[in-house]
Amino acid sequence: MTLDQPMVLATKNSGKISEFQELFRDSGIELKTLGDFGPIPPVIEDGHTFEENALKKAQFTARVLGIPAIADDSGLTVKALQGAPGVYSARYAGENADDKSNNRKLLGEMEDIKDRTAAFVCVLALAVPRGPALIYEGTCEGVIARSPEGRGGFGYDPLFYYPPLQKTFAQLGSKEKNGISHRGKAIEELRGELDRVIIWLKQRLSEEPF
Ligand code: IMP
Repeated sequence: MTLDQPMVLATKNSGKISEFQELFRDSGIELKTLGDFGPIPPVIEDGHTFEENALKKAQFTARVLGIPAIADDSGLTVKALQGAPGVYSARYAGENADDKSNNRKLLGEMEDIKDRTAAFVCVLALAVPRGPALIYEGTCEGVIARSPEGRGGFGYDPLFYYPPLQKTFAQLGSKEKNGISHRGKAIEELRGELDRVIIWLKQRLSEEPF
């Protein structure tokens, strides 16, 4: 089954764009990115949960562009840090943080901590221009390494050690990472019921007022 109008992926993160494009290939849904449209106002990610932020991004983008939108909100939660950096993962080291400074801050916070259990969490929201939205969630458990390893991926990947493969996420190829990651699992959950999702979208879109 196919959807006869495109869906837009509401993110500017190039790492996420390539992961989503790979995961939506041959899905029956044409995935566009924000770069395919003119500039739109930024969404303020001020939610207290991944779900709130994902919903906000998807609903705002669907409304502004008038087509279905999918957004994810994701991040790293560390048990010994009471779930931090959590929804603040992208700006853990401050407003102008980048991956390097965030990783450095995390290593500093974890210096004397023995329990290095952590999890990546991803919440996906799929919204139409008006009305309800669908939510999917995926998590992946691992441990925070003592030093960065690997050159692939993005964000906290060099510090996220995945025991079953004895590698950090940054040491995995993108296919290998997608197969086990929080984002891969959330998208797999969505893909598992894609036919129903496409029917849901068609119904919602036919109810839209002109
Ligand atoms: P978001 O773009 O608001 O979802 O922020 C997500 C932040 O969480 C990113 O900037 C990364 O720091 C981190 N993050 C989320 N997913 C991943 C991943 O797959 N690998 C590494 N870091 C991630």
